[in-house]
Amino acid sequence: MSQDIYVTRPHLPPLEEFQGLLNKIWESGHLTNSGPYHQQLEQALCDYLKVPYISLFNNGTIALVTALRALGIKGEVITTPFSFVATSHAILWTECTPVFVDVDPVSLNLDPAQVNSAITKDTAAILPVHCYGHPADVDAIDAIGAEHGIPVVYDAAHAFGVECHCGSVLTHGDLSVLSFHATKVFNTFEGGAVVCKTPEMKRYVDQLKNFGHEGETVVIETGINGKMSEINAAMGLLQLNHIDAAIAQRAEIDRQYRERLADLPGIHCVEDSGQIRANYAYFPIRVGPEFPISRDALYHYMKERGVHPRRYFYPLIPEFPMYSALPTADKTLLPHAARAADEILCLPIYPGLDQASLTRIIALLHDAAASGT
Ligand SMILES: *Cc1c(COP(=O)(O)O)cnc(C)c1O
Repeated sequence: MSQDIYVTRPHLPPLEEFQGLLNKIWESGHLTNSGPYHQQLEQALCDYLKVPYISLFNNGTIALVTALRALGIKGEVITTPFSFVATSHAILWTECTPVFVDVDPVSLNLDPAQVNSAITKDTAAILPVHCYGHPADVDAIDAIGAEHGIPVVYDAAHAFGVECHCGSVLTHGDLSVLSFHATKVFNTFEGGAVVCKTPEMKRYVDQLKNFGHEGETVVIETGINGKMSEINAAMGLLQLNHIDAAIAQRAEIDRQYRERLADLPGIHCVEDSGQIRANYAYFPIRVGPEFPISRDALYHYMKERGVHPRRYFYPLIPEFPMYSALPTADKTLLPHAARAADEILCLPIYPGLDQASLTRIIALLHDAAASGT
């Protein structure tokens, strides 16, 4: 029996490389609090991602909460229903109110026209997601923010290394937030970052993630502990040496899926949004009504045969109990997101997914189609 195939497998650099860096940590005894690896990784990521300032975090969720807090957001935050639940949880953790608006039916990113119509005197921020690493409509959303004087924070958890027409997508909005969780394109086991535009903002975010300390004896804010440890930072430095090769492998898998699924009626590969540099973080397909079996039937068919795709993102965030009573949580107001949640399936994609596995996954999709006809 062949091995099970999961939607992703974390990329790990050779263990010997990590051992060398661990030795240094043991020698120095510097485990956290902006140690040498932490400082090196911040600089290396600024260079790689072509962004001005980065503040590293212990995870993306704390980074999101801190980003909203750093901008003093209070009130309603317009966001997408079609994301991982951490996006909206960050809004609740800052005691703000999520306002869900529908996504564009093709890109599955926030629809700027819907964002615009949802703005009220209570709107405090816009929190879009670059879903699957496909850039949101940054020009339109940034323009809406600027016109109304409302900050924009991008949840860029999927968008490591993605470039759009004007360079890094991470330079849009007031702040962008990355996740370096094990399942993401670039991982530090757990980790995250806030991308800042000014040294003042970076300094403030650095203080907020360190309990609000301004110096040894001065505390200026109710900060949090969001610091990244030296172990995680060392991992990040190693991962950076391999990231281009990892993304190239993802690109090849993406290419083959598109080519080899093109003739399968009812299976629609979600298009990227014309970015200059993609990261191939996910491979989402939509199982249309023309496909002989439903998305859920396909999902179970594959799982039973050892291939584990994931329904990212299903259910919609507004269906979870802490959101469902909100006035904007009504699914009939979010038809495009609701339909996507019912049709979406993310296929396995990760560096190291070999040709035989890829062929097995694609064959299974064809078999499933034949099984239902
Ligand atoms: C992974 C993810 C997060 C949370 O990041 P963590 O590092 O796991 O806390 C937030 N938003 C989106 C869209 C994500 O996919």
